[in-house]
Amino acid sequence: MTTAGDINFSGKRVLVRVDFNVPLNKEMKVSDDTRLRAALPTINKILKDGGSAILMSHLGRPKEGPSDKYSLHHIVGHLTGLLGKPVRFAGDCIGEEAKKMASSLKGGEVLLLENLRFYKEEEKGDEVFAGKLAAMGDYYVNDAFGTAHRAHASTAIIAKFFPSAKCFGYLIAAEISSIDKVLNNAAKPFTAIMGGAKVSDKILILEQLINKADNIIIGGGMAFTFIKAQGGKIGRSLVEEDRLETALKILEDAKKKGVNIYIPTDAVCADSFSNEAAKQNCGKDIPDGWMGLDIGPETERSYAEVIASSKTILWNGPMGVFEMSNFEKGTKSVALAIAAATKKGTYTLIGGGDSVAAINKYHLADQVSYVSTGGGALLEYIESGTLPGVEAIKK
Ligand code: AMP
Repeated sequence: MTTAGDINFSGKRVLVRVDFNVPLNKEMKVSDDTRLRAALPTINKILKDGGSAILMSHLGRPKEGPSDKYSLHHIVGHLTGLLGKPVRFAGDCIGEEAKKMASSLKGGEVLLLENLRFYKEEEKGDEVFAGKLAAMGDYYVNDAFGTAHRAHASTAIIAKFFPSAKCFGYLIAAEISSIDKVLNNAAKPFTAIMGGAKVSDKILILEQLINKADNIIIGGGMAFTFIKAQGGKIGRSLVEEDRLETALKILEDAKKKGVNIYIPTDAVCADSFSNEAAKQNCGKDIPDGWMGLDIGPETERSYAEVIASSKTILWNGPMGVFEMSNFEKGTKSVALAIAAATKKGTYTLIGGGDSVAAINKYHLADQVSYVSTGGGALLEYIESGTLPGVEAIKK
């Protein structure tokens, strides 16, 4: 795996695919700069070597070509502050102006191109468009893990133009080595904790994990499909009736392969989907009219024990509706148990939108081994063992 650390970028104009798809507030200012910060090590390495960086990214999902709402010029000020040097901006990601600005770059200088998705060719993976981007640089670095599961022009197709001048940025390299540690080199026992709303979103990943994990802990709304499939009473809890068979099949496969699957044995129940709802602790069976919105105290304790005895942990998806303070306890206790295990030497990878949001909510991000920056990309990597953006660099 060639990474930015292996290359001397001196004198090179380096096209870097970054993921600057950051949230903007009402004043169009960056409200969370995690993704900008995550790209800094790679950009700084290029500049320090004496290369220049041409940054390419998308922002949001523009539908109808260019619009100010999705313009990357909104982030120029913030990025300038983080880099501590001026960032030039090309108001179109291809065309004469961008070409001119790119060719006049000197070592140590930075150019940010306008939103790639202002061209529908980007998401279509159009080769001509990729070629126009490629023509502006001598070297290609992919550091956008968040979009590495898409075969877009700037994330995968462009690599064809740099058969022997391409590498991974530090962020993608760290993401890959973290997934690899969990999926291919896990210290045992390896426990996967799966939560969130729906079984249907997690079937492929569960099927993969059954071949890798020693323990699979299930929580969140998806647990009720498993409970119902086994004949349990779930009241008005979230359920996917069309996935009951799938849930049984997953349980059967796990048994055949000697994987322990843990399903909640109690729940915090509510009489409506609201933080103000009446609540009570329910045992295995949930009364009619009530819905489970969090794992209960007994489940919390048993999950904490499994976590404490694990040497590798992957966590995706909350244990309950953690956005509501009355139903966050299970998710918080799992997050704390993971942090405590990390302290004792367990390798812990947190990935997938809502578990990352949870670990941040409880200020535990720096107490786990790795927090993935790419939700969808991480899940697809686990499902298929690679990603288009990763393959394109390896070829
Ligand atoms: P996902 O994106 O599939 O990981 O799902 C995350 C969402 O699942 C969060 O917004 C949670 O509020 C929601 N969730 C977790 N547990 C439950 C539950 N018991 N009932 C309904 N929604 C839940």
